[in-house]
Amino acid sequence: MSDTQHTPVTVLGLGAMGQALAATLVQGGRATTVWNRTPGKDAALVAAGADGAATVADAIGQHGPIIAVLLDHASVHATLDPVADQLSGRQVINLTSTAPEEARELATWAAAHDIDYLDGGIMAVPAMIGRPGASILYSGSAALFDEHRETLELLAAADYFGTDAGLASMYDFALLSNMYAMFTGFLHGAAMLRTSGVPAATFAERAVPWVTAMAQLIPEYARVIDSGDYTAPFQPLDFHKPAVDAIVRASRDAGVALDIIAPIKNLLDRQIADGHGRLAFERTVEELA
Ligand code: NDP
Repeated sequence: MSDTQHTPVTVLGLGAMGQALAATLVQGGRATTVWNRTPGKDAALVAAGADGAATVADAIGQHGPIIAVLLDHASVHATLDPVADQLSGRQVINLTSTAPEEARELATWAAAHDIDYLDGGIMAVPAMIGRPGASILYSGSAALFDEHRETLELLAAADYFGTDAGLASMYDFALLSNMYAMFTGFLHGAAMLRTSGVPAATFAERAVPWVTAMAQLIPEYARVIDSGDYTAPFQPLDFHKPAVDAIVRASRDAGVALDIIAPIKNLLDRQIADGHGRLAFERTVEELA
């Protein structure tokens, strides 16, 4: 069954993200019912054509999927547990950020109440919703995703990763780990250069092309990891150790804290101490996984 213009949608949670999602659904022509724990956050949405509901029970009174975009796992239970019986036979799309095990727990809870459950991880900030560049990662009920894909794609590019409700969240957090490592690397470099009087903006002019060029190596890292063969390294762990040791010395000499770089040195040192120095840098994933 495919989605239609007439599919009504309910949005529970009108924080910054819930408001952006609901506004995009209204603009996309979907009959949209909205609810928020603290009253008054629906004013602009109601003015734009949404139906404001006073209670969760009223909000889920309509047909169609229910999108939860609340603070965290606990707030999803706080909102849905009291109406679990009313949700029997309905479809819930949870776009609240939850850890993979929390998403799986919610899927089990939903199944016990005969609720079709799809979990999603939003890879965007509110201003990006409904625009190119936004993406939402989904896993859980394939039938729910397929039925409402057209509506979901109003919000952001929609990708489905399979029936394990925790997998979208795992992708979400894996990507965010990559992002945080990149940004904290920039912050460390900016702190180093600041001690030489170089503004962060000047460093950024170098950092962006450098990080962009280095990112092109990621598929080769992935190929080596997936092969499980670390014996023919482009550059072995022994090669990287002097460089990382020098970064640590440079940071320490400049009075820059080692919080970002020291864990990388520790990972290298541990593998070399265990006799893996001639193996590829990519072997580090075996140390982590
Ligand atoms: P906000 O902090 O702006 O809003 C939080 C929402 O959760 C509010 O509607 C709040 O209601 C509600 N809430 C909190 N606790 C409870 C509770 N116990 N019971 C019922 N409702 C509750 O967050 P966002 O809208 O920005 O984010 C929502 C989700 O989207 C989060 O999981 C976030 O991680 C995720 N997300 C957000 C992004 C962003 O850039 N904003 C990016 C990617 C994901 P009330 O108004 O009553 O406090």
